[in-house]
Amino acid sequence: MTTIKAYAAYDAETPLRPYSFDRKELGAKQVQIEILYSGVCHSDIHTAKGDWGPAIYPLVPGHEIVGRITAVGSEVTKFKIGELAGVGCFVDSCRTCPSCKSGEEQFCEEGMTGTYNSYERGTKIPTYGGYSTSITVDEDYTLHISDKLELSAVAPLLCAGITTYSPLRYLKVGKGHKVGVLGLGGLGHMAVKFAVSFGAEVTMLSHSPSKEADAKKLGAHHFALTSDAATMDSLANKFDFILNTVSAKHDYNAYLNLLNTNGTMIIVGVPTAPAEIPAITLILKRRKIMGSLIGGIAETQEMLDYCAEHNITSDVEVIDMSYINEAYERMNKSDVKYRFVIDMASLK
Ligand SMILES: [Zn+2]
Ligand SMILES: [Zn+2]
Repeated sequence: MTTIKAYAAYDAETPLRPYSFDRKELGAKQVQIEILYSGVCHSDIHTAKGDWGPAIYPLVPGHEIVGRITAVGSEVTKFKIGELAGVGCFVDSCRTCPSCKSGEEQFCEEGMTGTYNSYERGTKIPTYGGYSTSITVDEDYTLHISDKLELSAVAPLLCAGITTYSPLRYLKVGKGHKVGVLGLGGLGHMAVKFAVSFGAEVTMLSHSPSKEADAKKLGAHHFALTSDAATMDSLANKFDFILNTVSAKHDYNAYLNLLNTNGTMIIVGVPTAPAEIPAITLILKRRKIMGSLIGGIAETQEMLDYCAEHNITSDVEVIDMSYINEAYERMNKSDVKYRFVIDMASLK
């Protein structure tokens, strides 16, 4: 047993505060990772607050983890002590269902084992996430991390990165495509970077004029002010894809109208209320709406390798662990460009 320092939500109401717990002995196929950086995802806040159902308290959030291997089990073959490693949104799955067998563990029919707010498979041992100094994970659910990139800026790739990379790849987005990105936050800024890198013509769609300079800095070719009726009219039927990252309640219809014939809206933002979508909006142009959920282990590795090769990282603000509650407040006001990342050295 090793005692691990962490920060936890003890209930849905009170601020996160220090916590410690024991991680069990290293399994034969497991690696132990000293966590160096942990990204802060909106899901952390929603889960901690119980917005998506009852949470397992004390809850140690964090599923954008990068660190260094400090120990390996006797049967580990893919990792060595001293190497960099990453952990994303899940740490296990059933491994036998069609989704797992096809490398899309995120759609596991038994449900993936979340990096936090889950139980280790077949037990009542809670999983604890990245707001901690160490994590042990099966090597098959651990990612290789390049030493070419700034590590703090790599952490958010494990959730925000793969969430936007995966659907763009699934739809083979590239040269000749017009892509709109809706919402400029942790997800939106990665969507812009990937879509531009894949060769698409990218427009940032935002209701806030202040986002124009930021969007251009990230590489967006165009900026469209969605609160301007004339701009929206001029963009009708213009996009092949719209990647919708907005998690606040909004009118999907206004944006669906910007899709051309056969256009697809990709939903990755999760508003709590259901959307109302007139069938005719889809029918008249054979438009489609699809959702997408992170990516499997193989695709996450592919994304990390792509980022290392093309020098793509997240734009981050590095914080100390003790700043987490303030960070949550600022995230709720969208006051971060574009991801907080905890320097776990601040907890040691
Ligand atoms: Zn996340
Ligand atoms: Zn499965």
